Amino acid sequence: MHDVIIIGAGPAGLSTAFWCDELGLDTLVLEQAEQIGGQLHRVYNPIENYLGIKTRNGKELLELFAADVDEAGFDLWTQTAITGVELKAKRISLASGEKLQSIALVIATGVRPRELGVPGEKEFIGKGMIESAARDRQLLAGKDVCIVGGGDAAVENALLLAEVCPTVTLVHRGKKLRARREFAEQLQSSHCITVFSESVLTRIIGDEEVVAVEIQRKQGLKPFQLAVRGVCIRIGVDPNTELLREQLKTDEKGFIEVSSLQETNVPMVFAVGDISNPLAPTISSATGAGATAAKVIAGRLNSGGHK
Ligand SMILES: Cc1cc2nc3c(=O)[nH]c(=O)nc-3n(C[C@H](O)[C@H](O)[C@H](O)COP(=O)(O)OP(=O)(O)OC[C@H]3O[C@@H](n4cnc5c(N)ncnc54)[C@H](O)[C@@H]3O)c2cc1C
Repeated sequence: MHDVIIIGAGPAGLSTAFWCDELGLDTLVLEQAEQIGGQLHRVYNPIENYLGIKTRNGKELLELFAADVDEAGFDLWTQTAITGVELKAKRISLASGEKLQSIALVIATGVRPRELGVPGEKEFIGKGMIESAARDRQLLAGKDVCIVGGGDAAVENALLLAEVCPTVTLVHRGKKLRARREFAEQLQSSHCITVFSESVLTRIIGDEEVVAVEIQRKQGLKPFQLAVRGVCIRIGVDPNTELLREQLKTDEKGFIEVSSLQETNVPMVFAVGDISNPLAPTISSATGAGATAAKVIAGRLNSGGHK
């Protein structure tokens, strides 16, 4: 029996564990991946908005987190596959057959990139399909490219690619871009970016590598092909809540609803980080939510308020 089990070792889960440990709670973190850090592994841009710390990328920030984790006293199991979670009972079953039990559970499973679900999307990964212009734009330098999405990530990637590519076509479904004003203004002053609104990418075409994309502009119109050598899809994220969805309150997209104490509608089950924060997902909010949950759990356990 542990005081707290935390599922997920990204910034939110690690911060929760760090605080739980500091508050004297017996804490176990379960992480399915080989390494801790979650999305920090995919952050290739400099991190300049985490108060007091500036790093060149997510990995550098993770090294700072990992140094603190090494010194802390909580248990951390990586490469751990969870096969079942009973939230009310706070019981977890692992693929190994082991069963775990705690007084409080914290869900910190984060998000994953949303897929478009079109032919070619998986086949051309690394063959013209990139995830991050900050990391891979030199691979596409001098080539025509297509970006899919209308939010901050899509527009930021389009702007980065416009620095090295002759043409950049941005395809998005909405009438208006959702990206922040600063990005939208930069986009308008760029000469090589073309924006196709109310349009969808329906296919990625190629052989060894991407050679074209198929785009449908407005419903009912015939799709056309655009010759490009690179594609970047940035259409948002999906929450990693599949294991739990039936057992607690989520919004229609599967993000977990929490109180201001980070508690879900199931008593002593908490959710922290991007999984419960679709509108403002950041490292600061993830680590802050972890601190809140830990403080609340420790308070309840110390006062007997969890019974
Ligand atoms: C390209 C990019 C750039 C970004 N730039 C910034 C920035 O400049 N500043 C900023 O503040 N934020 C930035 N972010 C956002 C930031 O990385 C996230 O807000 C933060 O990582 C959220 O932390 P989290 O712990 O909630 O989730 P995650 O980082 O997603 O971690 C979740 C963890 O849970 C694990 N997990 C999932 N399911 C299970 C399961 N069933 N069992 C066990 N483990 C599981 C995952 O493997 C993962 O390790 C960026 C994100 C990206 C992708």
